[in-house]
Amino acid sequence: MRRALVAANWKMNGTKAKVTELLAAFKEGISTDNMDAAVFAPFVYLPMTEEGLSGTGIAWGGQCSYTAESGAFTGETSLAMLKEFGCQYVLVGHSERRTLFGETNEVVADKVAAALEQGVCPMLCIGETLEERESGITEKVVKEQIDAVIAKVGIEGLGKSVIAYEPVWAIGTGKTATPEQAQETHAYIRKMISEHDTNVAENIQILYGGSVKAASAKELFSQPDIDGGLVGGASLIAEEFVAICAAAG
Ligand code: PEP
Repeated sequence: MRRALVAANWKMNGTKAKVTELLAAFKEGISTDNMDAAVFAPFVYLPMTEEGLSGTGIAWGGQCSYTAESGAFTGETSLAMLKEFGCQYVLVGHSERRTLFGETNEVVADKVAAALEQGVCPMLCIGETLEERESGITEKVVKEQIDAVIAKVGIEGLGKSVIAYEPVWAIGTGKTATPEQAQETHAYIRKMISEHDTNVAENIQILYGGSVKAASAKELFSQPDIDGGLVGGASLIAEEFVAICAAAG
């Protein structure tokens, strides 16, 4: 039986005051008895996040990482650094990294491999653009994104990861995929993974992301192949995120 996981992606948002307020509200309001929760904070707020969430059952992670362990890579953050601040997860291949910062399927696969080597769970983000959906190639796009990772880390490596299916047209747009649309793609993803390994397909958590709100969470999470959500905008509103976590519990 897969456990639900709901993760907050704060992106490049927050102030010390806002982060303090959100962490206190999450600590107070989220029960991880029946579900898992995680927070992807901007790097500079990871020490505060570690302090605020330690001992709560809520995990945290970085929004990105570099593959090298250390060295002359100005602006980058290593997995060893993330681990030093208690990160259990790292986001890999978020659509904003792919589109704004040129991360290809191969770069993403290398980052998944580095995370697994360091014992940090990669949350692999995949998803199609509106143009790709309208051209009827959604399945081809997500298959290529996953195949690039399997080619690098094998199906066992994928099995140690979490997948977040996030249709690009639904991220930050207020346009959530319908539960049926999301379920259809999640079922496809699980089926294509089962062609490699039925056990991995059965056990891997596949989250939905794209304008999830408290009002839409319950129906999305009740779909058989949706195991929780990756939440951007709504994770910056404490009551919304707490309610989304409750919908998964
Ligand atoms: C995201 O950033 O991963 C995301 C899903 O954002 P939003 O919930 O704002 O669409």
